[in-house]
Amino acid sequence: MDENELKATIALKGIGVSPGIVIGSAYVLNRQDIKETLYKLSGGGEVSREIKRFRKSLRNSRQELLDIKTDLKDRKGIGSLLVDVHIMILDDKTFARNVIKNIKDHCVNAEWALKMTLSQQREIFDRIEDDYLRERIKDVEYVGQRILINLSGKALERVSDIEGEVVVVARDLSPADTVQMSTRKILGFATDIGGKTSHTAIVAKSIAIPAVVGLEKITEEVNTGNVIIVDGTAGVVIVNPDPEVIKRYEDKKRHYLVMEEDMLKDAHLPAVTADGRSVGVGANIEFVEEIPSAVFHGANGVGLYRTEFIYINKEQLPTEEEHFSSYKKVIVGEGIKWATIRTFDLGGDKFVSDAGLAEEMNPVMGLRAIRFCLQEVELFKVQLRAILRASAYGNTGILLPMISGVKEIMDARNIIDEVKGELLSEGIPIDEDIKIGIMIEVPSAVIMAEQLAERVDFFSIGTNDLIQYVLAIDRVNERVTYLYKPLHPAILRMIRQVVDVGHSAGIKVAMCGEMAGDPLCTPILLGLELDGLSMTPLAIPRVKKIIRNSTVKESKELLEKVMTFPTAQEIEECVRDYMVQRFPEFCPVDWQIT
Ligand code: PEP
Ligand code: MG
Repeated sequence: MDENELKATIALKGIGVSPGIVIGSAYVLNRQDIKETLYKLSGGGEVSREIKRFRKSLRNSRQELLDIKTDLKDRKGIGSLLVDVHIMILDDKTFARNVIKNIKDHCVNAEWALKMTLSQQREIFDRIEDDYLRERIKDVEYVGQRILINLSGKALERVSDIEGEVVVVARDLSPADTVQMSTRKILGFATDIGGKTSHTAIVAKSIAIPAVVGLEKITEEVNTGNVIIVDGTAGVVIVNPDPEVIKRYEDKKRHYLVMEEDMLKDAHLPAVTADGRSVGVGANIEFVEEIPSAVFHGANGVGLYRTEFIYINKEQLPTEEEHFSSYKKVIVGEGIKWATIRTFDLGGDKFVSDAGLAEEMNPVMGLRAIRFCLQEVELFKVQLRAILRASAYGNTGILLPMISGVKEIMDARNIIDEVKGELLSEGIPIDEDIKIGIMIEVPSAVIMAEQLAERVDFFSIGTNDLIQYVLAIDRVNERVTYLYKPLHPAILRMIRQVVDVGHSAGIKVAMCGEMAGDPLCTPILLGLELDGLSMTPLAIPRVKKIIRNSTVKESKELLEKVMTFPTAQEIEECVRDYMVQRFPEFCPVDWQIT
């Protein structure tokens, strides 16, 4: 009998973070942590058994590295050289001899002997003065982890290991995991953990696969091979659906695809309201490869290039040439007339293997974004050189993330000026008048908007972080998602203040947080008179259509009305009613305000 027939249908409600419906076979990603435990050996027989186990895990690790090397051979930009280094460490006779010596001398199991050897190596590396060489302990530790996994016999699964068209189910996925899904045939994913505007969610949207996060216990409810439906639009996951439910979702999926296709028909028309106000609609991208999709969905510019994704899944820091080549490709991309390149925002929920980011208790409020750049000036300059060089090829803006006050702008501008001077003295062409803007995503930047506006060319409001900091809600924590409200009266007042201050100072104010692409928020944002909205490409056709079918006058009336409400719930209700009446065709009941 089919295993699925024995199982009851289970439906779970989570947070839909990437729209669309997928019906497929589940693949549960096994991600148990592996910890070294100590056990004492009783004698010679056990000692030689442990040595044999260790030698076997060395051989297996070596073979895995050779496989990775073969896999990487044809892909550019990834360090197969680094894999060579790891193989050299594995082949190092002293390393293996030390582990075996620890097994024998201390009568301990191979895992513990490996742990002892690694900490002895760490002590030696800590005494090295040269920063680069000292950091190479990371390579030794990486190899140690691989041996440990082999000793445990449990493979720590990676997304890149998954074969076949499946729906991934996992406790949690990092943005780096999600990025890898774009090159595999992953249909969609569902996770226990995660919030609406986490970077994992943002990547899911950018690679256009349906996803639901924050399901709390989906990993307990599903086994690999179960049939699973992920409805990323409604935030629902159904495990072991009966044929009738499958049929209903197939119909829903067809309806969704027809609606999307319909929306695409006039995606290229300009975003001008019925009473003549033009709104600059740009795309948020994480990868250069998204440019064709951005243009296809109706963007003629990039409002936010999240350049930190250049660092993700890389074993080594990208070079100036790698940066330059990515920026130039965006700027000269077919159909792209302007591009705003955000300097890297590493930290928070985005990780990188080798940028020297320490583990922090509270990374979202830690050394991230501009703070990190102002400390790691050399790293920052590499990126700035590349952006400035690329600016010679088209209309480019620099966007500085996480600005909390005037001093950070002054410091960043000094570094930008220094880099400009260097490039000019080297005779390299740049746009000397390149526009410099800041993200408004820290509450102090809202309060200080007047002083900040005097020192920059444009503002871009990052609602993902602004909401997180203003309402004190962790954007990746599913437990507090119910409090994450873009239409909270405090948020609307802050946006209004930033727009007013920006316009009084004669600068443009755009928005590039997820709120900008939420069709339910579009009339409110029109009423708030934002000059530009930048969003994930898939969201563009619908938002543009709403803009074209609205007037600023009616949007302002709606805004004035909602500004009298004291709670986010009342505002949401009012906006929803308005949308259902005004745009019934775009407004399925299960839309969520993101
Ligand atoms: C934001 O915070 O709104 C934003 C656009 O930046 P990110 O999502 O990359 O933090
Ligand atoms: Mg942000």
